[in-house]
Parts: sequence; C-alpha cells; structure tokens
Amino acid sequence: MREFARIAPLQRFLNGLRQRKKRIGFVPTMGYLHEGHLSLVRLSNKENDATVVSIFVNALQFGRNEDFSRYPRNLKRDRRLLGAAAADVLFAPSAGEMYQGDFQTSVTVGGISRPLCGVSRPTHFSGVATVVLKLLNIVNPETLYLGQKDYQQYRVVSQMAKDLHLRARVCMAPIMREKDGLAMSSRNVLLSGEERRDATLIYQALREGRTLISSGERRAPRVLQVIRRILGSARLGRIDYAEIVDAETLAPVVELNEHSKALLAVAMLFKRTRLIDNILMEV
Ligand code: AMP
Repeated sequence: MREFARIAPLQRFLNGLRQRKKRIGFVPTMGYLHEGHLSLVRLSNKENDATVVSIFVNALQFGRNEDFSRYPRNLKRDRRLLGAAAADVLFAPSAGEMYQGDFQTSVTVGGISRPLCGVSRPTHFSGVATVVLKLLNIVNPETLYLGQKDYQQYRVVSQMAKDLHLRARVCMAPIMREKDGLAMSSRNVLLSGEERRDATLIYQALREGRTLISSGERRAPRVLQVIRRILGSARLGRIDYAEIVDAETLAPVVELNEHSKALLAVAMLFKRTRLIDNILMEV
C-alpha cells in the first residue's frame, strides 16, 4: 500500500494510474477503522483497479461542544487493517495540508441537511460537504463509497454531486453490525460497559419498528411510539431523535402508504457520545 500525507505527490501518483486507464474507487473515513469501513474498501476493490482510502478527522464537521478532541485515532492500527484489506493508497493528510491558513470557502446543501442530525448538529453537514468536495477534487475517483449508517450524509453528498455536476458516482453500502446488532462505529469504544449494553436498544427498537410495519401498521406515529418506548428504557442514553422520514426527501412521514421508501432513523446520546442507526424500508 502506498501512503501519502501531501496532496501534490498523491495527485501525481493518481494521475499516473489514470494515464494507464485504471479505475479509481475512493473511501473517505475519519479512521479508527472497523469492519464497516473495510466492507467499503472491499466493495471498491471489486469494482475498481485501485482503491484510495482517506483518513482525516475533519474538525470542520464537529460542533463546538462535540467530541473532536476525544475522537479515537490509531493510524498504526489503521495502516495494518488497510494493508490486510488490500487497499492500494492511504491518504492521511494533516489539518494544515487540508485547510491552509487563509481557507474561507464552504459548501452548504440546503433542505436535506436540516432534519434529523441537522437539528442538533446545524453546521455538521456543511463541514461534511466541504471536506468531501475537497477530497473528491484531490482524488478524482470514478466512484465514491459511503455507508448507509450515515444515511443522511449519503443523501447530502448525493445531492451535492447532482447539483454541482460532480463526475464521481456515489455508491452506498449496507450497515455492518456487531454480533448483538449494534451498528459498528469508531465511537463505540468511547462507551462504558453499561452504556454499551444500553446501546443495543437502538437496533432492537428499529427492528421492532420494522416488524410492526411489515405486519401492516401504516401509522408512523404508532410505530414511533413503540420505538421511543424501547429507547426510553435505556438507563444511560438519551434520545436525540427517533423519526420516520421519506428516504428521498427526509421529510417526516405520517402515513407509510404514501411513501415507497421510508427511513427509520435514530440518534442516541450517551453523555457526549452520539450514536446513530437506521433501517431503510420499501413499504
Ligand atoms: P467515518 O469514519 O465514521 O466518517 O465513516 C466513514 C465511512 O464509513 C462513511 O461512509 C460511513 O457511513 C461508513 N461507515 C461507518 N460505519 C459503518 C458501518 N457500521 N457499516 C457500513 N459503513 C459504515
């Protein structure tokens, strides 16, 4: 695996690949890698000649009281995991390489950035869109691979790609879970033992919601009542949101009949650690 911390040598290397007609797939991450990230690398490997993975904890997408400084980091371990997953290129820039002192541009995607995570994290998606556009301009891949776990992020980036005529195709991959159902996340290591046990309620609640809908319930408020009751039994976690929204527009759903694809989405807070998860449903 080739590793770059600077943009210019990375671009020289990737230009060489492109001249030899190699297809490039790109997986942006914030590191502290787990099987969710690695599943994206494997998918990209299958569909491309070379996979570029970036590791960059992007301060711009963290709010002032969020966990930027506590966000887990271990580049040595990540390098090893990426080597084993057969990634071709690791791009791990410093903050100074990505944001020069006079940096003053940001990208904001409107409507779909505002509900769900946008309510408690009003500047988050602008930070995400800005760094993803920068990374796409640097790497210039055929395909960008994102995980369904951050479904709103996938929608925001897809909308940006459409609105700004970006060249890259945006591809979404399924959520990887721990044995007990908890969605894999770099933040899971920040939980105490008891918080970790409470966190399993997130997927339990979502699954219960899915079961209700599958057995014919069409009133979203009824489904949400059940989901919130299960989440409410957590001793240490607090519900940030539990919503059912249209998977395309992210607008709230009342009657599930009227929407072909719905997203059941949850965010829970364990002190400062915020976990999200979702289930996509064809109704
Ligand atoms: P992060 O490092 O958390 O910014 O995530 C980098 C990419 O990995 C994003 O596209 C995430 O959606 C994706 N990802 C994170 N967790 C998972 C998971 N459990 N399953 C699948 N993809 C994931």
